[in-house]
Amino acid sequence: MNLPEPKPWTRREALIALSALACARPSAKEGKVSSKPTQATLPTVFVSHGAPSLILEDAPVRAFLTGLAQALPRPRAILCISAHWTTRSPRVDVSTAPETIHDFGGFPDELYRMRYAAPGSPELANDIVARLASSGVTAETSTRGLDHGAWVPLKLMYPAADIPVVQLALQPHLGAAHHVALGRAIEGLRKEGVLVLGSGGATHNLGQLGEGDRPPGWARAFDEWLVERAERGDESELVAYRSLAPEAARNHPTEEHLFPLHAAFGAAGAGAHGRALHRSFTYASLSMTAFRFDGA
Ligand code: ZN
Repeated sequence: MNLPEPKPWTRREALIALSALACARPSAKEGKVSSKPTQATLPTVFVSHGAPSLILEDAPVRAFLTGLAQALPRPRAILCISAHWTTRSPRVDVSTAPETIHDFGGFPDELYRMRYAAPGSPELANDIVARLASSGVTAETSTRGLDHGAWVPLKLMYPAADIPVVQLALQPHLGAAHHVALGRAIEGLRKEGVLVLGSGGATHNLGQLGEGDRPPGWARAFDEWLVERAERGDESELVAYRSLAPEAARNHPTEEHLFPLHAAFGAAGAGAHGRALHRSFTYASLSMTAFRFDGA
């Protein structure tokens, strides 16, 4: 086992550190890739990644993520769409050996020593660029690495780090429909053994965190709304969530943590429906709801 046992660093420490979370910085590294093709068809998945310290905490969502890979066919590669990589226009990471980016401050030293040494896959990255181009979306490439929205859940899901990982950036200023379309452009990937993993937060207001796992009404109501629409595959309501969902702006003062869900939904294909795989709250208002999306 290369994962540490959960440690009770205090929730108050985490609250302070969480409020200081910043966006990722670019980085570059080279390496070598190998992957075996598989015919497995996968669902797409959305996970709420919470705080970087999730990996150190004895929380229900940690146990869920640790067991999630066993509930899925083994992918030949993973495309992660994380809330912590946002760009003006679509961008794909072509790193051969993605660096582990510690894009946070104020957390325990142990977190900064952690690495997730999965290979990248320039082949998959360039394939994604081509698929996006076929849908009229121009994407650029860069060598960047894996932010904590990618590596924290992946380290719990696939601790051996032996499956190539590619990241695709979000463009929050372009809205929900853009992210469904981004996902739709790459919907073929899940039928070719690639796990499309959206990583964000079902609710995400870092200014209104608390202690314990009893959510305030405004967070619970939004989470309920989201689960209902995702499970019935209601694309138009998911896209219009900002005006339809209860307390949408309070739950997502900025939208980058919800758009990985739109991308994962889109990547499951037209008519996809979701299923909530896990539901819990942490820091009172932070929903850790996770979904799988299966094609029609
Ligand atoms: Zn985050």
